[in-house]
Amino acid sequence: MPASQNYEAFFRRSIDDRDAFWAEQAQGVDWHQPYDRVCNYDRPPFARWFEGGLTNLCHNAVDRHLKGRAEQNALIFVSTETNTEKAYSFKELQQEVQRFAAIYQSLGVKKGDRVLIYMPMIAEACFAMLAAVRLGAVHTVVFGGFASHALASRIDDATPTVIVSADAGMRGGKVVPYKHLLDEAIELAGHKPASVVMVNRGLADLAPVAGRDVDYAALREQFLDAQVPCEWVDSTHPSYILYTSGTTGKPKGVQRDTGGYCVALAASMKHIYQGEPGETFFSTSDIGWVVGHSYIIYGPLINGMATIMYEGLPTRPDAGIWWSLVEKYKVSVMFSAPTAARVLKKQDPAYLTQYDLSSLKALFLAGEPLDEPTATWMADAIKKPIIDNYWQTETGWPIMAICNGVEPAPTKFGSPGKAVYGFDVRLIDETTGEEITEPNRKGVIAAEGPLPPGCLQTIWGDDARYVKTYWSSIHGRTMYSTFDWGVKDADGYFFILGRTDDVINVAGHRLGTREIEESISSHPNVAEVAVVGMADQLKGQVAVAFVVLKDASRAADPASAREQEQAIMKTVDEQLGAVARPAMVRFVGTLPKTRSGKLLRRAIQAVCEGRDPGDLTTMDDPAALQQIRDQLA
Ligand code: ATP
Ligand code: MG
Repeated sequence: MPASQNYEAFFRRSIDDRDAFWAEQAQGVDWHQPYDRVCNYDRPPFARWFEGGLTNLCHNAVDRHLKGRAEQNALIFVSTETNTEKAYSFKELQQEVQRFAAIYQSLGVKKGDRVLIYMPMIAEACFAMLAAVRLGAVHTVVFGGFASHALASRIDDATPTVIVSADAGMRGGKVVPYKHLLDEAIELAGHKPASVVMVNRGLADLAPVAGRDVDYAALREQFLDAQVPCEWVDSTHPSYILYTSGTTGKPKGVQRDTGGYCVALAASMKHIYQGEPGETFFSTSDIGWVVGHSYIIYGPLINGMATIMYEGLPTRPDAGIWWSLVEKYKVSVMFSAPTAARVLKKQDPAYLTQYDLSSLKALFLAGEPLDEPTATWMADAIKKPIIDNYWQTETGWPIMAICNGVEPAPTKFGSPGKAVYGFDVRLIDETTGEEITEPNRKGVIAAEGPLPPGCLQTIWGDDARYVKTYWSSIHGRTMYSTFDWGVKDADGYFFILGRTDDVINVAGHRLGTREIEESISSHPNVAEVAVVGMADQLKGQVAVAFVVLKDASRAADPASAREQEQAIMKTVDEQLGAVARPAMVRFVGTLPKTRSGKLLRRAIQAVCEGRDPGDLTTMDDPAALQQIRDQLA
């Protein structure tokens, strides 16, 4: 394959000559037995990729690298919370994974059984994930910061045989005990796991439940020399379930396959992220999110790279910590989220430049809209390309990106790039259901089936909900909806304009709250903003903005707050017109977000309208919602 090819041709081939294209990509993966069919799409919208092929995710992530990379770093665990740093070579990782797999076997875990992992960002969580897929068991990682209600609903949905957990996580120097939350969740849940494997970090009280809880360290001792071969599973065998963030409603259990996911990740490392085997990948996400699954654990390891698992804040001991790791481990590719970039933006940029970043090729950001001021600030601070990419838990890897590994292309501010190969992306007019072909006209971002390999197979245990939720919202057509708005410019670059349920209707004008936020965040005093629609007797809805100022003292008294409000309204007037001007601008210290850093507009809006904010189990900081209430009072 030539080093650089024409992206348009590459993309067209992925759609027009789908099977040949993906058969080529599938060569990046080890198959124990070749597949019969590249894509079985006999029963739309259910796609079965590489059916008949036998493979194993753990084999591809770990075992196959023992030839040639046994002594190379595979997993680098760094905790600035416990001041621990430990690197595992591929050989050591394989040994730890086999020990964990033997523990699972001793507890009766078999192919197809679910294992729920409720853990902080420690190496054992990685072992637990890889050991599950090694046996053909299905893991479901639940973010360690969730409380018992969120955990209980996932226990009931996934019905795990075994739960793996730890005594505690740590955040900002404070111990966050897990055990009582876990016990409470199991108490609340209808389903009861047979066993709970507890990793004791010595941080908090454990109080084992007799007959249910087992100690990881003690069991590991018994299986030090365990040899547990990989279970060869069909490519379509589920590898994991992962629940969406719950920004818009009840989380959905995204079910992923094995072979398709493996192929998709291997290809993405080459065409999008451009990490080379032997280099180090650093994703600052959490294993509780999709980015953690795809680009902390599986993607880098499948690609023979070392991966950093980091427990701690981006600002402790100081805002230079991530960049010191880049220097120390010669990180070549870094992946983070705009929300983290905005945290760093409040710090002195000098922290980011005191380390040698010469190994770093690019910083990728995904998960929410990347506003231009943040992107520019970050690019100036680290002097590296900042590459936005757009995807969802459902897709498992990017729908939109710049595929520099295929053909280098410029980025455009505010755009996550072009449609990624394999995704037959269309913009759909919401009212008519017709496809929008002219540039710069807003539509719902949708895709023709089949979705490429790596995307969700279904919603766990609920095929009907899968079809109804994702494939039935576009009039008269079976098309996948992302539920995001976007436009495409004449060069094929997309711009994400927010979620379809974030549109407000002011006196007959339909406005995206995202566009208003973008405008407000261009004001130099603004650090962060959330805009929601609030019911209004006269206008139907009005926009309300909640703003976090870079310097809170600017709105310390009513007169100066009023001044800031007017300055912000003026910015919106000038950029979008008076129709988009928020009815009020209020100042808060922090905004309500999910634990993955996404704005909870749904909850803010409910509070504004005096309604019950509903399911808050995925919310980060309940005090943030109280600040909104206080501002409205
Ligand atoms: P739920 O589906 O449960 O409401 P969620 O959509 O927040 O939760 P995720 O799958 O974690 O769960 O998030 C995917 C969404 O995040 C996308 O649909 C989009 O709205 C947003 N997003 C992701 N990346 C980007 C990006 N680069 N630019 C703009 N928005 C993005
Ligand atoms: Mg979503």
